[in-house]
Amino acid sequence: MNTMNWIEKELELLAEASLERSLRRSSPVIESPGYIMRGERVLLNLSSNDYLGLAQHPAIIERMRKALLTEGAGSGASRLVTGNRPPYERLEEEIAIWQKCEAALFFANGYMTNTGVIGALVSRGDVVFSDQWNHASITDGIVGSRAEHARYRHRDMAHLRTLLHKYRDKRRKLIVTDAVFSMDGDQAPLRELVALKREFGAMLMVDEAHSGGVYGKRGEGLCHELGLQDDVDIHVGTFSKSFGVYGAYICGSHMLIRWLINKARPLIYSTALPPSILAGISEGLALVQVQHWRRERLFALSELFRSLLRAAGFTISVGNSPIVPVIVGDNAMTLRFMGALEAEGIAAVAIRPPTVPDGTARIRFSVSAAHTEKELTDATEQIRNIGIQLGVLKRG
Ligand SMILES: *Cc1c(COP(=O)(O)O)cnc(C)c1O
Repeated sequence: MNTMNWIEKELELLAEASLERSLRRSSPVIESPGYIMRGERVLLNLSSNDYLGLAQHPAIIERMRKALLTEGAGSGASRLVTGNRPPYERLEEEIAIWQKCEAALFFANGYMTNTGVIGALVSRGDVVFSDQWNHASITDGIVGSRAEHARYRHRDMAHLRTLLHKYRDKRRKLIVTDAVFSMDGDQAPLRELVALKREFGAMLMVDEAHSGGVYGKRGEGLCHELGLQDDVDIHVGTFSKSFGVYGAYICGSHMLIRWLINKARPLIYSTALPPSILAGISEGLALVQVQHWRRERLFALSELFRSLLRAAGFTISVGNSPIVPVIVGDNAMTLRFMGALEAEGIAAVAIRPPTVPDGTARIRFSVSAAHTEKELTDATEQIRNIGIQLGVLKRG
């Protein structure tokens, strides 16, 4: 008996349920950031998180290239050993000024930030209140922390209040939410969360992975857009989406940052990212702060795309986020939809359970400032035709 045979059986079950995932090669089209290559074909990329179209920006690439020459390739060790190169502290100062916070800490990525921060803040005897549709990295952070996991129904503040009441005697309480939810593009009720955090004496952590760069006058995120930045205790964001590079940050008090340097395991036990990445981020951050036209263009295109899809007969949620899901429901049908889109020259990814709830498989479209009105208008026509062919849209 081969002790690994169970994997083949499990994989068969996944494939039968149209739930197997596989890696597909996508190459950039350097001169055209709104497109990707699959094999020999150039496809309109309607599933990127590069919302501002910065991932191939020549100034970012140039800064990274120069930094490679002065800083070398790898950093050689964790930041607490000998990996804490000058670009780290420079970038953290830039982040703190941008976010108008006391202190900032750079992390390798958003996943490690969420697991590391939650693990450093709570443990057995504590409780974390988490929106049921929060990002998987938040869930993994809670599970790893061994704190009680109190999931509240999506954006349901009455349910959160009930749970806060139920667990009021726990030692530490942490409320955590995505600012913009990654698979639906809707926003967390941040004002209500701040009020509840105050009422129950809980810490509040907000993850701006999909809202950083997009919201706020200088792309600081949704908390700033709503004037709530001083009410959030732990403010987290990434540089891998709108900023076009990689990495993540935490903003908060000096005390919080000192604590994380001592307790956040992904920071302590993992090699510091190559300094050239930080040079690229620094350039991306500078561009995000001053190139307001990218945000304006993104919002205009998102609004156009939403209204075009609605006019085509799809049910599109309200809001102004560049994330525009078209819910199909059935897993196999969603895969067929994705295949048909690709045949028409559009890359748009099918998102299936467990990333989204059962029965809500979808094509997660996302708009980028790199797109044009004509591209989105033409794409909508193709999306509509496929929707009708597959019976996802009623003819009419
Ligand atoms: C993408 C994402 C992350 C993970 O960030 P990476 O830098 O890609 O690891 C974390 N939280 C949310 C809400 C995200 O959407």
